[in-house]
Amino acid sequence: MLNITRYLWVLVLIVTLGGLWYPYLGYVMAVVMLTLMITAVFRGRWFCGNLCPRGSFNDFVLNKISRKKNIPGVLRSLWVRVPLFILIMSLMIYRVSIVFATRNMFEKIGVILVSMCIVTTVAAILLGGYYNSRAWCTVCPMGTAQRIIGGDRYQLKMAHDLCIDCKKCEKICPMELTVRDIGNNPDCIKCGRCVEACPKDALYF
Ligand code: SF4
Ligand code: SF4
Repeated sequence: MLNITRYLWVLVLIVTLGGLWYPYLGYVMAVVMLTLMITAVFRGRWFCGNLCPRGSFNDFVLNKISRKKNIPGVLRSLWVRVPLFILIMSLMIYRVSIVFATRNMFEKIGVILVSMCIVTTVAAILLGGYYNSRAWCTVCPMGTAQRIIGGDRYQLKMAHDLCIDCKKCEKICPMELTVRDIGNNPDCIKCGRCVEACPKDALYF
């Protein structure tokens, strides 16, 4: 996690609330989507755990009111996640195609981006409020895209001989991953919490 990570949630409020009055704020979403597609090539879902404003919102705001129930396994299934990615991206492309080359096109595209941000933020609050605060991040279309692009990049490593099987790493993992299943966690968001929690310094990137 970066020093700035805990403050990035402010951008969610700025876009969802400020965007109602100033739709151009929706382009923050476009910058986020473009940036994470690039970082995914080198670091998989690193963006989710370090630079994503909604990830920051989930960790540092939503987590305070979350019931913290286990994330249902069905949300991890690519049979659910890939169709959701296709549905949301198709919907966005369709809506943009309707306003393309019309008067005030950039403002209208901003409205579309803001509305997408509002809808996904509400979904994140409902899922994260009931389940673990990162439940949305399990099905998030942008997380799925990063997993497909670079799920095998920048994997967590482990010195197996140092591990004392205390499971502190797995208790703290916000994605509820089997942390020690090294090399088999394409949804690891590289937040580094397990690395910090390990009393034996057995984990590293
Ligand atoms: S495995 Fe470690 S780095 Fe990856 S999401 Fe879990 S706590 Fe974060
Ligand atoms: S926190 Fe470290 S020592 Fe404990 S189970 Fe995880 S890797 Fe092993």
